[in-house]
Amino acid sequence: MELQKKPIREFTAQVVKVVQETPTTKTLVFDLSHTDFDFYPGQYVMLNVPYEGELLKRAYSIASPPTRKGLLELTVKRTPNGRASVVLTEQTKEGDTFLIKGPYGKFVWVPQMGTDIVLMGAGSGIVPLMCILRYIRDARLEHVRAVLLYSNTHYEEIIYRDELQDLDKHSNIKVVHTLTRSWPEDWKGYRGRINAHMVLKEVENIPSNLYYLCGPPQFVDDMASLLEELGVDKGQVKKEKYD
Ligand SMILES: Cc1cc2nc3c(=O)[nH]c(=O)nc-3n(C[C@H](O)[C@H](O)[C@H](O)COP(=O)(O)OP(=O)(O)OC[C@H]3O[C@@H](n4cnc5c(N)ncnc54)[C@H](O)[C@@H]3O)c2cc1C
Repeated sequence: MELQKKPIREFTAQVVKVVQETPTTKTLVFDLSHTDFDFYPGQYVMLNVPYEGELLKRAYSIASPPTRKGLLELTVKRTPNGRASVVLTEQTKEGDTFLIKGPYGKFVWVPQMGTDIVLMGAGSGIVPLMCILRYIRDARLEHVRAVLLYSNTHYEEIIYRDELQDLDKHSNIKVVHTLTRSWPEDWKGYRGRINAHMVLKEVENIPSNLYYLCGPPQFVDDMASLLEELGVDKGQVKKEKYD
């Protein structure tokens, strides 16, 4: 299905709020009331990040849904020894301004593409998937059925933990967590990487869903192979690699 492209805009935007999501992750909320920026759920923007006298251009998925006009949320996880992500998570404060360009990307979901969707993410790979879930909730798309399979190393690293718990209460949204390295004693989610057993248990009619995979390249490749083994057609799978 060919979607009409949203026009690419370039604008300066001010950070109006900084939210600590996890020990290593922050959400930056930008005021966009002065632009007519629009995008599809799943897309990303390019951000110019000042670093030691140069401007680093980095891609960040949009976390807020397109239904929330006048603001834009980006959620950034600090990459060990990274440059832009350290500026964004450790030095950026309310009032700072950034040059933003976008939207970009074909990792897009709109209901016309399919109403049974499975979102599979690892770490900060949750961001565009969260945009999709927020869109389903805010636009009241009750005919859509979404399953999120979200993998993290540790409990403390689960981004949007409370909001995901609330989303799971919606009858058409299911949130499934797995932790790969450590877990609390009373942990009720899965342990270990997302595998065939989990997908078979949590997803109905496996070949008939649309799949959205996002996270580190190895995660995305592993999930794509897993889905192929489970009989999902490649055309049903969309991928976004954070490299
Ligand atoms: C489409 C897309 C969307 C994305 N969305 C998000 C998002 O929503 N949230 C998010 O957190 N991230 C996202 N990313 C990742 C993001 O764009 C950055 O790549 C990330 O923030 C790291 O940038 P950085 O400047 O901090 O790291 P960099 O400084 O570029 O470093 C990246 C890695 O390279 C290593 N490295 C750096 N310099 C060297 C060197 N000289 N020699 C060897 N190794 C080195 C670092 O240790 C680090 O592991 C997205 C990526 C893509 C492609």
